Amino acid sequence: MTDFESLSDDLVARRKQHLYRSRLVVEGPQGSEIQLSGKPYLNFCSNDYLGLANHPDVICAFQQAAQEFGVGSGASHLVNGHSYYHHQLEEALADFTGRPRALLFSTGYMANLGAVSALLGKGDAVFEDRLNHASLLDAGILSGARFQRYHHADVEDLERRLERADKGNRLVLTDGVFSMDGDMAPLDRLVEVTSRQGAWLMVDDAHGLACVGATGRGVMEVFALKPTSVQVLVGTLGKGFGTAGAFVAGSEEMIEMLIQKARTYIYTTAMPPAIAAATLASLKLVQEESWRRDHLIKLIQQFRKGAEQLGLKLLSSRTPIQPMLAGSAEEALRISEGLKERGVLVTAIRPPTVPKGTARLRVTLSAAHSESQVNRLLQELEQVMSHSCR
Ligand SMILES: *Cc1c(COP(=O)(O)O)cnc(C)c1O
Repeated sequence: MTDFESLSDDLVARRKQHLYRSRLVVEGPQGSEIQLSGKPYLNFCSNDYLGLANHPDVICAFQQAAQEFGVGSGASHLVNGHSYYHHQLEEALADFTGRPRALLFSTGYMANLGAVSALLGKGDAVFEDRLNHASLLDAGILSGARFQRYHHADVEDLERRLERADKGNRLVLTDGVFSMDGDMAPLDRLVEVTSRQGAWLMVDDAHGLACVGATGRGVMEVFALKPTSVQVLVGTLGKGFGTAGAFVAGSEEMIEMLIQKARTYIYTTAMPPAIAAATLASLKLVQEESWRRDHLIKLIQQFRKGAEQLGLKLLSSRTPIQPMLAGSAEEALRISEGLKERGVLVTAIRPPTVPKGTARLRVTLSAAHSESQVNRLLQELEQVMSHSCR
């Protein structure tokens, strides 16, 4: 007899509703092609937007640092796990984002939980875009501050809520590039409102840094904003940078506050130093090889043009995240499975990751793709979609 019997109804219900989740087992590196169960697939679901996860320079930096420093960091940053490479990377990321300091975290999820809980508490208030990433929503709830969500990208709605809020610190949280929609937050107007209202602004640019902006400095660069206009900037390293981990960047005082108070920083083992060394190599490629972003922009235009000709329901995104609405979870799964049978991987994104009725195929493009691979995606989509109502 299992102790989990009372939970198994939930599993059955999930299957019926086409919401059951399962995993693929990958048998090789990330790239434009990926191997699963002995078969190659065209890969349109990775977040390795610049194709750096398997780059020889990044691998070499990782191997050299592992030779020098071993694999495990051995302790948390505040004990003796904070290595030379961690420190170098923090300085390089502070420089890259134009801020006095940056602080490494082991994952983006932890960076968000740690930062928001360190900056806010009871008596404070947090305001979040409805479509924020789960880690930001969880961070807001965990902080104990009064929690509210404003309509997606609706700056007027946000301002009304800020005006009505009690005294205490007020923090506005937003994705830079929305992870499941691909659109960008209206950062210029968010900066205006938060500075007018005397609130702090925290931007999680997990999908923007490295890939958007002429030099890869993310949504802040797209809107030509001064670093000081966004008090807390979060970046993750497992997406465009192709490695793992995350950082928070901002003022000297804010970072020192996080070192004292962020529990997901203090009570966890530092990431392996070799990951930090590998990220130093990938940060160099992000800055030096702007052709990767130029090529991505071409692929985005090619995909959007082709998908529009096929009459697909694209969301309005200028980023490598190019979702297509399918409506029901069942239809999203059908398309995703149809593509997989044809050797193309595109993930179906279903509730609760996205609101009910907006299940979608989330196509992600990478600088590692060629134009002919994008054409192949469009051809296979045409085949699979011809069996459904558009
Ligand atoms: C992926 C993601 C995270 C989580 O980052 P991890 O390093 O994968 O934990 C946080 N925020 C956003 C917006 C993300 O897309």
